[in-house]
Amino acid sequence: MKMFDLTGRVAVVTGGNGGIGLGMAEGLAEAGAAVVVAGRNAEKNGAAVATLEAKGGRAIAIAVDVTDEASVKALMAEAEKAMGRIDILVNNAGINIRKRPEEYVLSEWMEVIQTNLTSAFLCSHAVHPAMKRAGAGKIINIGSMMSIFGAPFTSAYAASKGGIVQFSRALATAWAVDNIQVNAILPGWIDTALTRRAREQVRGMHERILSRTPAGRWGTPEDHAGIAVFLASAASDFVTGTAIPVDGGYSVQG
Ligand code: NDP
Repeated sequence: MKMFDLTGRVAVVTGGNGGIGLGMAEGLAEAGAAVVVAGRNAEKNGAAVATLEAKGGRAIAIAVDVTDEASVKALMAEAEKAMGRIDILVNNAGINIRKRPEEYVLSEWMEVIQTNLTSAFLCSHAVHPAMKRAGAGKIINIGSMMSIFGAPFTSAYAASKGGIVQFSRALATAWAVDNIQVNAILPGWIDTALTRRAREQVRGMHERILSRTPAGRWGTPEDHAGIAVFLASAASDFVTGTAIPVDGGYSVQG
């Protein structure tokens, strides 16, 4: 459909080289966008570009550390130079350090907050001039169900993801004047490298999640392709400041 058509648009996807980021990048590429894959690992970035190209998409890789301001600025400058414009930013790169709060040390706390939350500030700030030049923009921030719930092993992670939701709302109000829409996606339990270790180590976790998810399964990266296209396209031009769960009903179950 024309309103979902992203032909001629350029999307920068942080952490686009695997997991949910790659799932969204595939959706954006299928809808016609050229994708800049931006993770730290050059080998993984290259493999993701090959995956997108094999499916008929246009993509390039630019290595970035989203916690580093100079690296983020260089990413946006290089992406705009190579592709001519930037229309869509997906702030997806993220990590978790699973520990009880009393076991956390400051450096671990900072690593999680900087990777998951400060990165969204740095990337949005760095892309703002390009979106103003383009006369429009779409920013999609990846939050989490943990912005709604508490859990003993996720203090820094939940704080960062709660911050993502509020940052999205503030940015949406500030940049509406620039015709930039800012929204958050809140993934539920998704089968990726991020959750795999916990699922393998915590006995019964896999089954517990299955039994508490109305959809009866774990989510996949591909489950995020459609929502990414919606939030990146003209179909969502009057949608801003929202936080949309993609969780198979986990967060609404009584
Ligand atoms: P993965 O571990 O599969 O992917 C994380 C991505 O982030 C990788 O591509 C990694 O690339 C990139 N990344 C991490 N740190 C940096 C950094 N400093 N600079 C640049 N890139 C970085 O995790 P998911 O796909 O599961 O997670 C994607 C997002 O979804 C995260 O924000 C996560 O919090 C969120 N989420 C995930 C859920 C799940 O159940 N899986 C649930 C809720 C939210 P590289 O290694 O090359 O740097």
